[in-house]
Amino acid sequence: MKAMLLQAPSDLVQTTVDDLTVGAGEVLVEVTHSGVCGTDLKIFRGDIPVQYPRVMGHEMIGKVVTAPTATGLAIGSRVVINPVLSCGQCFYCQAGQENLCPSGFLLGRDKNGGFADHICVPAEAVFPLPSQISNDCAPLIQVMTTCHHAQNLSSINPGETVVVVGLGVSGLLHVQLAKARGASRVIGITGSPVRRSMAEKFGADDTFSPDEDVTQEILNLTGGRGADLVIDCVGSMNTLRQAIELARPGGRLLLFGIYTDEIATLPFYQLYFKELILTNARAAKAEDFPACIQLVVDGTIDLDSMISHVLPLVELEQAIRMLDERDEARMKVILDHT
Ligand SMILES: [Zn+2]
Ligand SMILES: [Zn+2]
Repeated sequence: MKAMLLQAPSDLVQTTVDDLTVGAGEVLVEVTHSGVCGTDLKIFRGDIPVQYPRVMGHEMIGKVVTAPTATGLAIGSRVVINPVLSCGQCFYCQAGQENLCPSGFLLGRDKNGGFADHICVPAEAVFPLPSQISNDCAPLIQVMTTCHHAQNLSSINPGETVVVVGLGVSGLLHVQLAKARGASRVIGITGSPVRRSMAEKFGADDTFSPDEDVTQEILNLTGGRGADLVIDCVGSMNTLRQAIELARPGGRLLLFGIYTDEIATLPFYQLYFKELILTNARAAKAEDFPACIQLVVDGTIDLDSMISHVLPLVELEQAIRMLDERDEARMKVILDHT
């Protein structure tokens, strides 16, 4: 089959690789559309180490080619794939924390992923796509599951004020999901005027630029208390510091950006004094897939407006490089494999 193969950092070629062998209980899927994200960029650059050669891609949908009869999956039917695979047997899997399975892996990083003609996965990793969800936006379901999982861990109560720092694709999904969970006020923070207006379109009640006196603005909007929950979708020490400042005493921080710093100067005393609850979230669980599919089908979450580019699969390198450029108009980049 054809695949986009990363042979070494920044060395990506279109080539032919061995056809996949389908094991017992596995579904063979013809990948039709995939999404490109920051993880792919980091793998491409070599910032996230992988074994070479590697087929990247963990946000993918496609059509069933073969499936075990017991799954009831029709040949040719559309499915979205959960790229976070787990053993199903260990302490974490048994405890319903399969996203933390020590022998688990991510397709497109630890094993070959979806930037290819086909992918083969266990039947449990495949979820049928209803016809209401278009091919172009369906790969975003995987991104949405990670936001959905994170908000499950830091549940939002009706009437709360939620601040989302950083309004890329994940930030805008958090805005929509927080509204759907009953937050009475959702506030977005970004330096990009385009993304501020997108967040407002997606239901944000207020948006601010980091250049403004955001702390004072949020105190004004919350009776002088601060936000009940702050979601940091950037993952830098600056945004974490800001999140600590914006949260009310007794509030929560959801650390959604992936921090790689090992040394930090932060207002640690405020963490104590405000008695803040910190939640980290990693990947998603299988249960997040049907939940997210339903939220898109019933119109609660709009994925279509987040797609800014659709490119053919052969332009993968260009799609990845686009993520590295500062371009306010670029949102989600989708690859069409057909
Ligand atoms: Zn991704
Ligand atoms: Zn396990």
